[in-house]
Amino acid sequence: MTKPHAKDLSHLLSLESKSRQNSPLKSAFKYYFDPKVTFLGGGLPLSDYFPFDNLTAEIPSPAAFSSGKGINTTASAEKLSLQIFKDKTKNEPNQIELSRSLQYGHSEGQPELLTFVKDHTDLVHKVPYVDWDIIASVGNTESWESTLRTFVTRGDSILVEDFSFSSALETAHAQGINTIPISMDDYGIIPSALSTLLDNWVGPKPKLLYTICTGQNPTGSSLSFERRQEIYKLASKHDFIIVEDEPYYFLQMEAYTTDKSQRTSTIVHNHEEFLKALVPSFLSIDTEGRVIRLDSFSKVLAPGLRFGWIVGQKELLERIVRLHEVSIQAPSGVTQSLVNGLLQKWGQKGYLDWLIGLRLEYTHKRDVAIDAVSKYLPSEVVNFSPPVAGMFFTVNIDPTKHPKFKTEFAEDALKVEDAVYEQGIKQGCLMIPGSWFKSEGQSNPPQHELEHASLVAAHNPHVFFRGTYAAVPLDALVVGIEKFGEAIKIEFEL
Ligand code: PMP
Ligand code: PLP
Repeated sequence: MTKPHAKDLSHLLSLESKSRQNSPLKSAFKYYFDPKVTFLGGGLPLSDYFPFDNLTAEIPSPAAFSSGKGINTTASAEKLSLQIFKDKTKNEPNQIELSRSLQYGHSEGQPELLTFVKDHTDLVHKVPYVDWDIIASVGNTESWESTLRTFVTRGDSILVEDFSFSSALETAHAQGINTIPISMDDYGIIPSALSTLLDNWVGPKPKLLYTICTGQNPTGSSLSFERRQEIYKLASKHDFIIVEDEPYYFLQMEAYTTDKSQRTSTIVHNHEEFLKALVPSFLSIDTEGRVIRLDSFSKVLAPGLRFGWIVGQKELLERIVRLHEVSIQAPSGVTQSLVNGLLQKWGQKGYLDWLIGLRLEYTHKRDVAIDAVSKYLPSEVVNFSPPVAGMFFTVNIDPTKHPKFKTEFAEDALKVEDAVYEQGIKQGCLMIPGSWFKSEGQSNPPQHELEHASLVAAHNPHVFFRGTYAAVPLDALVVGIEKFGEAIKIEFEL
């Protein structure tokens, strides 16, 4: 089957992006690496004066994580040594020499690393159109800020999940963008709610939907494939871009089961099973080129590397590269040489083994957390859905059962949330109140549907707390959840 080309979506670009001219200096840069050209064109420091001859690192050998038993990071685990030189001729093939990575240039990312990540992307998502590409970024925080600048103009509206990553919302608000909340349940955005809102939309339609569709921050929910398909159809019908911010995509886990003897029977054993077990991304169903996917090494290698990448149609990515040329220029050269070095040593297969190792590790952490939630949180007032991806679990609390709900709290659910939060700290466990992530906003002109939705929400308040199983040792995690259970019991007089 021949793949289609992306649709022309240039009408969705922002005023800022349409105003951005190409830099003539940058366009001359392609001749810098041409051996036939004496390049007197740039203010580049000579690499002889870069005070780094080589970079040496010890990295885990695939033997330390490919046994199907998770990731072994102990001192005795098998290691590989990685050395990257300034001088290209001293390097192993496909390494990025320091004389290049520490120099200006390659705003779109160093070719060896981009090729690796592009091959990986195609392996996982099998992008269904021809003219897609990837560019490097400094992580999803920066990718999102640059994506917004590229598509929306002060006063525009965008669609966001009802509860969303607060720093992502703040990025939009600071640019003068209206964030329009879309109703969610335990499984993410409700497509019919989105459809009703858009069918009745008054005024200019939102230009993009921002979604953290796998292991959502803060709710821990993940959108099913069916919901993704429905939402994609709505994006086509109402002509908006889907931005999938997916730092947790590879922290997908086995489904939770209370039966401990069943827990090892479902684990993935090989690359094929692993890839099949991943929920298909929006990118993988994007036949029109209207998905911008934000990917990052932050949650799968290390956040301080500050390296991510953006996947989308070439024409639109070109606009982001032009923005990068005048903002970040490029991700750190040290990071690019180092990460590329690691990935070239591991190879595509080794990297998949690493991701399978993480899947096992996170499945175990999630199981420990949910076992403790079931054991220690009072089911009279608490319910929860075990997450299937990401770092977060949430517990929903019925505020109406709080003894002071009707009296002292005057039916204000936020007062219950606040009381539980404070009591949690008193008992020695901090979980984050869901209301801290509430997305709010109204378009101009306003949407009647939204006013209606906020009235319904006011009568049926959703109180939840976000916890993580990623950041603490397992014994401390269990103790923490027990303390939080104690706090709820005290507050609800159980
Ligand atoms: N400002 C001026 C005036 C410059 O000449 C340059 C380098 N050519 C820059 C900024 C870019 O600096 P940096 O590499 O620190 O981003
Ligand atoms: N997007 C979401 C939804 C996140 O939860 C996070 C992590 O905190 C980020 C982006 C930040 O990612 P990065 O480290 O790649 O900038």
